[in-house]
Amino acid sequence: NGDSQQHLHIGVLAFPFGTHAAPLLTLVRRLAAAEPTLKFSFLSTAKSNRQTFSGAKANQFDNIKAYDVWDGVAEGDEFGGNVHVAAGLFMKATPENFKRGMEAAAAGSGVKISCLLTDAFLWFAGDLAAEMEVPWVPYWTAGSCSLSIHFYTDLIRTTLGNANTGILENIDKTLKFIPGLSAVSVDDLPDGIILGNLESPIAQMLHNMGLKLPKAAAVVLNSFEELEPATAKDLKSKLQKVLHVGPSILSSPASSDSDETGCLVWLDNQKPASVAYISFGTITTPPPNEVLALAETLVSSKVPFLWSLRDHSRHLFPKGFVENTVAFGKAVSWAPQLQVLAHLSVGVFVTHCGWNSILESITGGVPMICRPFFGDQTLNSSMVQDAWRIGVRVEGGVFTKSGTTSSLELVLSQEEGKKMRENIKVLKQNAIEAVGPNGSSSENFEDLLEVIKACKHP
Ligand code: UDP
Repeated sequence: NGDSQQHLHIGVLAFPFGTHAAPLLTLVRRLAAAEPTLKFSFLSTAKSNRQTFSGAKANQFDNIKAYDVWDGVAEGDEFGGNVHVAAGLFMKATPENFKRGMEAAAAGSGVKISCLLTDAFLWFAGDLAAEMEVPWVPYWTAGSCSLSIHFYTDLIRTTLGNANTGILENIDKTLKFIPGLSAVSVDDLPDGIILGNLESPIAQMLHNMGLKLPKAAAVVLNSFEELEPATAKDLKSKLQKVLHVGPSILSSPASSDSDETGCLVWLDNQKPASVAYISFGTITTPPPNEVLALAETLVSSKVPFLWSLRDHSRHLFPKGFVENTVAFGKAVSWAPQLQVLAHLSVGVFVTHCGWNSILESITGGVPMICRPFFGDQTLNSSMVQDAWRIGVRVEGGVFTKSGTTSSLELVLSQEEGKKMRENIKVLKQNAIEAVGPNGSSSENFEDLLEVIKACKHP
């Protein structure tokens, strides 16, 4: 009834690394705006909450409250490891840190938690929710293709072999036996599915997640059904509910990033579809020899470029690179990427194929040159190149001067590039329609609201 609905309290558990917590908060804000009577407690580490809750929308919602949970680093320790080490420590601290956080959230609001909306990475939330007798709603912040390979990990291992058994000889190495993934080969899979370390914390986490998905009341994705129809249909037939509600950049447009580094003004002065925008997301820097090869390619080809590279990696540029390319290039430590990719001057996106980057490229209508590094990136790049035909993997797989030169030429100047641009426009239109009135993503969002509103107090 209306009364109990007023008091529904949703525990939101974030994964505090990479570009994960921000898209989860975007979804929560959309829910909080659609149903102001719902209360949300957003649990993440102090560092992640500081970053995620900064900016224009910081205190816009009375019904969202942030709670900090322990990051797993012993008090007094100076943490100097990389993000993979940090994620390992954090996962060790789970689920106890989240349990304590939820106790604080329940005490703080005086209302018991009635539903767990969590990053799908946090597979143990399925068990936690069962203990609490509340529904579990995991959010997969990436595409159906990558979710599907985690759902089918055991099937992939028994069909193709694995790092422990050896890859089976003389068999078709594509994933034809999984709906929607016929273009994907064994080599495109992330480490930990069949090759690499199957016991790494991340591999175990994702394997466990795949096994727990059937327990979820609904699995929510930041994608749209029309992008991966066969995979979406298959997952829907196997799981209780699968709700593609994205792309969130279209359904919940952010207030524009400020353009402190002058990227947009610079783009205004470039020719249409001429610029290579280069960025590898928030975690990755390519190895020094590849940064060098990419820089040398730009110098010799004189392709206009906008390159976002964190300050701590700037020393990888060859000496004099920035000064010698001012006539046609710009290097910044951060770009308002969404607006950059929507700018008419951008002709190609040189990307690591993080999921957010791919969606932003699709909605910007910009074809891609892919240089994937880890996680779902290689799989995503295979979808970009072979399934959607909206980009290519950089020739040779890594940046070399000759390979990068021909990939730039292909996308910017050749017929194939034109075709990619046409293909991506179709996907862009599909995305716009999905989040529009009666669109698939809009309807799925309504369905998600119903799932959450139907939660009962335990
Ligand atoms: N991004 C940005 N400016 C930059 C670099 C990255 O705004 O200079 C944003 C980008 O728009 C995207 C996110 O950072 O939303 C990167 O997410 P993605 O999933 O592509 O990669 P990850 O950071 O998780 O590796």
